[in-house]
Amino acid sequence: MKALVYHGPRQVSVDEVPDARIEKPTDVLVKITSTNICGSDLHMYEGRTDFDQGRIFGHENLGEVVEVGGGVDKIRVGDMVSVPFNVSCGHCNNCERGLTNYCLTANEPGVAGGAYGFADMGGWAGGQAEYLRVPWGDFQCLRLPEEAKSKQNDFTMLSDILPTGWHAVEMAGLTPGETIVIYGGGPVGLMAALSATVKGAAKVMVVDRHPDRLKLAEQIGAIPIDDSKGSPVDQVMEQTGGRGADRGAECVGYQAHDPQGNEDNALTLNNLVASVKFTGGIGTVGVFVPQDPGAPDELAQQGKARFDFGDFWFKGQQMGCGQAPVKRYNRHLRNLIAEDKITPSWIVSHNLTLDQAPEAYQHFDARDEGWTKVVLNPTQPN
Ligand code: NAD
Ligand code: ZN
Repeated sequence: MKALVYHGPRQVSVDEVPDARIEKPTDVLVKITSTNICGSDLHMYEGRTDFDQGRIFGHENLGEVVEVGGGVDKIRVGDMVSVPFNVSCGHCNNCERGLTNYCLTANEPGVAGGAYGFADMGGWAGGQAEYLRVPWGDFQCLRLPEEAKSKQNDFTMLSDILPTGWHAVEMAGLTPGETIVIYGGGPVGLMAALSATVKGAAKVMVVDRHPDRLKLAEQIGAIPIDDSKGSPVDQVMEQTGGRGADRGAECVGYQAHDPQGNEDNALTLNNLVASVKFTGGIGTVGVFVPQDPGAPDELAQQGKARFDFGDFWFKGQQMGCGQAPVKRYNRHLRNLIAEDKITPSWIVSHNLTLDQAPEAYQHFDARDEGWTKVVLNPTQPN
C-alpha cells in the first residue's frame, strides 16, 4: 500500500510499504478515506521529537471498515468509522475510568498512552496511508451515520482536534456566561473556540498573528487578538474590564514563539497566567515534551520551562493538561455534527490526495496564508 513515510527533518515521501493487515482477532482494518495533517505532526516533521525514520505519520483517521478479526463483535465490514487518535484497550485500570488518553496497555510497560503515527506513543503505524490496522476495534471505532460520506470534512475532526479543543475548554472549567481566552488560532485553538461557543461562553478571544486564522475565529463570533500589534495580555485586559478572562486555553505547545519567531516554551503559559483572572482555570492541550534536544536554550532542551509559578500560585489558578481522551467526547460531538448544530469543517482549506502530502506538509508547516487545515483523502468511500 502507499503511505506517507518520515525520512528525517522536513523530509517525507509517499512510499510503497507492506500492507496494514489484521494481526489479532480483535483488530479491524480500515480503508482510510480521510486523514488530516495536525500541528502535532509538525513537531515530528520538523525533527523536534524522536520519531523514527521509516515510520508512517497520521493520527486523525476516518474510513471504511474492510475487514474484521474473528473476535470483533459490533463493528462490521462497510461501516464508516472515526478512529480516536488515542490507541486504547478499553479494559485497563485507566481505560475503565475513561482515561483512554493514558491507556496502560497501548504503550511499553511503565508508559501510559498510545497513539497512531506518534513519537513515544507505542510505535503504532499511522493512517496517512491507504489502510490502517485498528487494534481493539470494537472499543476504538466510532460508527458514523449514513451522511458520513457527504459530511466527511466535519466528521473527520472527531478523531482529534474537535474533542481536543473541547477538552481544553472542559479542563479550563468554563461555565455558561463566562469569558475565555485561547492562545493559538491553529486548528486546535479554533476548535476550542467553537467548543467554548457551544458551551455558552459570553466572550471568546483567540490570540494569534496569522490573519487567515484570526479571520476564521471571527467567523464564529470570537474576538481576534493579534499579538503582532501589541501585548496580548493588555488586549485581553481591555476586553475584560481589567479583570482578566475567567478561563484560558493553551493551544500552541512547546514551540510557542513571539511574532518575530523567537521561541520560548513558557511564553503562552505565562501569558495565560497573566491574562486569566484570580482563581481562573486554564486547560493546556498544546503539546509539551520531557526532552527537546532541538530547543534553542538549555533549560528547554531538558523539557523544563521558566513558568511564572509565583504568579500562578498568587492568583490561585488551576491548570489541567495532557493528551485529550477523545472517546469521552466523540460520540456526543458526532451527534452535534449529525444534527447540524456544529460545522467544524469551516476551517478546512484543502482536500488533497496522499501523493500531494509532502507539498501540503511544507505549506502547513510554514503556516502559509490560506493553509489552515489539510485533509488528505488517500482513498474514496465506496
Ligand atoms: P498549529 O501549529 O497549526 O497552530 C498553532 C498556532 O499557534 C499557530 O497558528 C501559531 O501562529 C500560533 N502561535 C505560536 N506562538 C504563539 C503565541 N506565542 N501566542 C499565540 N499564538 C501562537 O497547530 P494545531 O494543529 O492547532 O495544534 C496546536 C497544538 O496542540 C500543538 O502543540 C499540537 O501538538 C497540540 N495538540 C494536542 C492534542 C492533545 O490531545 N493534547 C491534540 C492535538 C494537537
Ligand atoms: Zn492531531
